[in-house]
Order: sequence, then C-alpha cells, then structure tokens
Amino acid sequence: MFDVAIIGAGAAGMMCAAVAGQRGLSVVLIDHASRLAEKIRISGGGRCNFTNLGASPAQFLSENLHFCRSALAGYTPQDFLGLMREHRIAWHEKHRGQLFCDHSSEDIIEMLRRECERGRVTWRMPCAVREITRDGESWALATDGAPLRAARLVIATGGMAIPQLGATDFGLKVARQFGLKVVEPRPALVPLTFDAQQWQPFAELSGVALEVSLGTGQGKARGEFLEDLLFTHRGLSGPAILQISSYWKPGTAIEIDLAPGRDLAKELLQAKSGARQQMHTVLAGLWPKRLADAWLAQSGDAGLAQARLADVPDRKLLDLAARIHHWSLAPTGTAGYKKAEVMRGGVDTRALDQKSLQARAVPGLYFIGETVDVTGWLGGYNFQWAWASAVACGRAL
Ligand SMILES: Cc1cc2nc3c(=O)[nH]c(=O)nc-3n(C[C@H](O)[C@H](O)[C@H](O)COP(=O)(O)OP(=O)(O)OC[C@H]3O[C@@H](n4cnc5c(N)ncnc54)[C@H](O)[C@@H]3O)c2cc1C
Repeated sequence: MFDVAIIGAGAAGMMCAAVAGQRGLSVVLIDHASRLAEKIRISGGGRCNFTNLGASPAQFLSENLHFCRSALAGYTPQDFLGLMREHRIAWHEKHRGQLFCDHSSEDIIEMLRRECERGRVTWRMPCAVREITRDGESWALATDGAPLRAARLVIATGGMAIPQLGATDFGLKVARQFGLKVVEPRPALVPLTFDAQQWQPFAELSGVALEVSLGTGQGKARGEFLEDLLFTHRGLSGPAILQISSYWKPGTAIEIDLAPGRDLAKELLQAKSGARQQMHTVLAGLWPKRLADAWLAQSGDAGLAQARLADVPDRKLLDLAARIHHWSLAPTGTAGYKKAEVMRGGVDTRALDQKSLQARAVPGLYFIGETVDVTGWLGGYNFQWAWASAVACGRAL
C-alpha cells in the first residue's frame, strides 16, 4: 500500500514522483518500458530542448485556454534552471529562448532519477498495468507483477506520438473508464502531406529553405508563425510546418507568405520603372534563385520568366506579388503519430482542477503531462508543461 501510485515514468511522472516523495509521501512509479524516459533521451536531437525562457500560456493549445495558467505560474523555466544548477548541468540557449543541454539529454534523465532517489521512490519497471479499480478509499492496480494499492493515483502516460517507443492511449482509456471526457486526440508538431501530382512542380525545390509567415484556422483556433520552411521532394517541412500542423484541421488550407515583412507589389512596380531586367533575375534577387525559377515556371504563363520587367503589365505584377504573399495550400493529411512530436487533445481539462490536476468528479485520480489537453508549440514548451503540471500535482497530493 502506497500513498501515491504514478503510472508513466517519463518527464512528468518522474518529476511528480520526486516532488511527492520529497514531501514524505510513499510513492511507487510504474512504467511498461524497459528503458527509462525514451522521449527525453531522443528529444532535441539528443540534447533535449528542456524548456523555453519565454514560456507563457500564449504558447499552448487547448479547448480550455486558461487551464494551464496556474501550473505554469507555479513552476517556471527559472525554477527548472535552478534544479539544473543544483545538479551542475550545463546548458545553452539556441534561439528564441530555446534551452538545450550542452552535453546530452541523458543529464536530465539522470537528474530526475536522482531526485526520485532523494524522494525514496519505489520503481516498478518494466511493469504493465492490466486493470485499475476503485476499492473503497484506495486504488487497486492489477499488473503483470505483484498487485499494488495506493491512496492516490496519478496518470502520466503521455500521448500517442511515436508508438514505436511505447507510447499508448492508456491515459485516455483511464479517463473514459472513470467517466471523464476526452478532447479528440490528433498528431501534432507533425509533417503535413501533400498530393503527389499537385506537388510535382515544386518537387525539384527539395532542399530550399527560407523564412516564411504562415497561418491557418479562425478566431481563437487560429495559429500564425514566422518560421523556417523547408521544401522536400514530397512536400513542405521544417519548423514552420511542424508549428502550423498543430492548428491545421483536415479539409482546410494553410496560407503562406513567402516574402514576409515585404511589400512585393511595391518593390516590383518600383523595379519596373527604368529596369531592363528579366523577370526571373528580379525575383532571384529577392528569393532563393531555385524558388524564383520554379515559381515562375509553374505560374502558367510561359513567357513571364523571360519577359523584361518593363514589358510586364502592372496587373500581372500585382497578381504575382499577391500569389507570393498569399500562397494557399491544402495538405492531404499528416504523417501521423509515427512522425509526430506530440499528441494534441487528450483528457478534457474542464473535468480537472487546475491547481492540483485532480479529476473533480473522481477524488484521488490525477492526470499530468501530455495526456492532458494542453499542447505546447515547438521549442521546449511541451517539457515545460510536463514539469509544471507534475510539480503542481506533486505539491497537492
Ligand atoms: C522525437 C521527439 C522529440 C521531442 N523533442 C522535444 C523537445 O526538444 N522539447 C520539448 O519540450 N518536447 C519535445 N518532445 C515532446 C516531449 O517529449 C513530450 O511532450 C513529453 O515527453 C511529455 O511528457 P510526459 O511525461 O507527459 O510523457 P512521456 O515523457 O512520453 O512519458 C510517458 C511514459 O509513460 C509510459 N507509458 C505509456 N503507456 C504506458 C502504459 N500503458 N503503462 C505504463 N507506462 C506507460 C511510457 O513508456 C513513458 O515512459 C519531443 C517528442 C518527440 C517524440
């Protein structure tokens, strides 16, 4: 019999176990994987983008946008840096507030493991939980090892991204078992796919990268980013696409401004006065040359590329500028959970208490980390949510 059983020994589970254990509670931490915290290990290219200095509720998606506020305010990126300092882990800022380990993401795993040790956490790993039942005031867990009992139960089994690493929908099943609603889960921070035939004119652009602004969705569900876009032989990729994928809904388009912050109509009209240049030379001065060539080639106006700018009617220049600033593309789908970094959706936060992450209608049951309907942007935000939700819960248990 333990005070607390935590299922899932990833980012959130280990953090929560450490906090609760160090408060003097007896904690058992259970995970079905044979290797500890695989997602931390592979994250950030092996260096774990463990937080973002600018983390605030504004970088999170949820059906209930304010839910994450309390936990994020209670445990900030600076708090996590304090823990890193205690463990003498070196880090650096890459860009836009993204913090990475200097050495390896293994440093974070080892730090959390030691924090659990300080909290005298009991490990059950690898161990699968077969069944959960409410038994009077406590929880009974049937596992493929010895059965366990605990007064409080925390679900920290993450999302469904990368099933090949042991990701499951366990948290969602537990939520449904106890009558909690689930916001439809979808892959997020994921490459988008495009129709092969429609993509053909751009396939030769594979490798071209440029900064774009892009957006999709309406009202509160709209996402807009200024990020790097990468052309691949099958579609678009890079941080810009990963970010916008979290907001994209099947059947809708994304709008891309391929020359953000500029006024191409004005620039083209100005270049026209007195210019003897050909159209493709002018565009190549504004853009990667291969992009300029391919863009003109697929514009459906064969003569445009070779035309002298001075000979092109204003109407055509304005139309060209508009198409570059407002490129609308309808992806056919996403590359799915196999390639996604996170799952969006999850346990509906309207059923949870924001201070403790406890299910209001099921006392003693808590959900933390990615299994909850709080999804961060690319850039360290998802780990910050894992730490913050875990600490809020660990303090409240
Ligand atoms: C390739 C990749 C790179 C990423 N890079 C970053 C990054 O740099 N920065 C960032 O902020 N985020 C990153 N993320 C996202 C981040 O890893 C997750 O959001 C974060 O790990 C979520 O923490 P969690 O504790 O909720 O879940 P996890 O860390 O996924 O932990 C869940 C644990 O539960 C266990 N589990 C699952 N099902 C069961 C079950 N049925 N029974 C028992 N145990 C179970 C799993 O084995 C796992 O150990 C990345 C994700 C991927 C896939």
